[in-house]
Amino acid sequence: MSKLNDNAYNQTLSKDKPKLKLWTSMGLLLTYKCPAECAFCYYKCGPAKNGLISIPAAINAWQGLIAIAGKSAKIHITGGEPFLYWEHLAQLLEIAAKQKLGDVDMIETNGYWADNKSDIIEKLKFLDSHNVKKLKISYDPFHAEFIDYHKVKLLYETARQVLGTQRVLVRWQEYLEKDLSVKDLPENEKAALFANSLKNHPCRFTGRAAEKFAQVPANKEVEEIAKLTCQNAYLSAKGIHIDPYGNVFSGVCSGIIIGNINEKPLEEIWRDFNPTKREFLSVLCAKGPAGLLEKAIKDGYKKSRLYLGKCQLCTALRQFFFDNGKFRQIIGPKDCYV
Ligand code: SF4
Ligand code: SF4
Repeated sequence: MSKLNDNAYNQTLSKDKPKLKLWTSMGLLLTYKCPAECAFCYYKCGPAKNGLISIPAAINAWQGLIAIAGKSAKIHITGGEPFLYWEHLAQLLEIAAKQKLGDVDMIETNGYWADNKSDIIEKLKFLDSHNVKKLKISYDPFHAEFIDYHKVKLLYETARQVLGTQRVLVRWQEYLEKDLSVKDLPENEKAALFANSLKNHPCRFTGRAAEKFAQVPANKEVEEIAKLTCQNAYLSAKGIHIDPYGNVFSGVCSGIIIGNINEKPLEEIWRDFNPTKREFLSVLCAKGPAGLLEKAIKDGYKKSRLYLGKCQLCTALRQFFFDNGKFRQIIGPKDCYV
């Protein structure tokens, strides 16, 4: 297990300064491919997206997290839609079980595959016997635009029978009460439903959400956003995500690559990580995304008067830099920007 002082940034600090935390939680994005294309997806997943993390890379990442966090290591498997690659997922779980890597805290799914009860039971029993503790079903008006309500309901009820009620989570439970027929709603009703859902369950305006909801009344001026830096977001993130290509994202900052496990083991990425010394990240840490505006405007970015917040400004600027081929080492991969 790593110690705080093993990290390059922490070694430069006096005792009283906030340290980079140990990464203890990891989301493995099996793929960017997904049968849905939810308007708020932080990773812009969808049917045209690709990527599938190799089993050795996933196992390396898992071992790397254990090397950093020891017994506190907590992993979940997500996507994209992990059940699109059931055989691959099953093989990963089998190898992890053989290597005694410990529990998978949770697997997330949108339930698109759940149309046959005996198939559902078989898959859930497999997960149960391969150290998966919880199933998390993503369902809300955004998912309901693509995924059939009856499949989600069948998965939910079957999972509660097979795994027990405590091991089945739904995000968000209230939408399971009845079929909202979102697919068939006229656009204005759909928009109202989405807006209401965002009000009740605020989301981060990153990824596709930053574009799709730009019409939600933006109310923050750049001067206000300029007071917010991202240093704390990086230092206090206990969680990371690993994408299908091995890219490492800190916390919830999708599309900002801080390392790649195919180039360096995860424990070394954590050990060497000093956000205040890296191109692009150092500006985010010192000044927040507003600190990148000057360069963007010089390169042709058209500034809006208002934004939905810090992360939407950050996403808009990253999109601009990506489209103009800037900061390619850190702004990527393509799947998060096209
Ligand atoms: S939010 Fe989940 S279900 Fe929706 S597109 Fe993204 S990965 Fe797929
Ligand atoms: S503004 Fe950007 S770097 Fe800062 S927390 Fe939001 S997404 Fe992450």
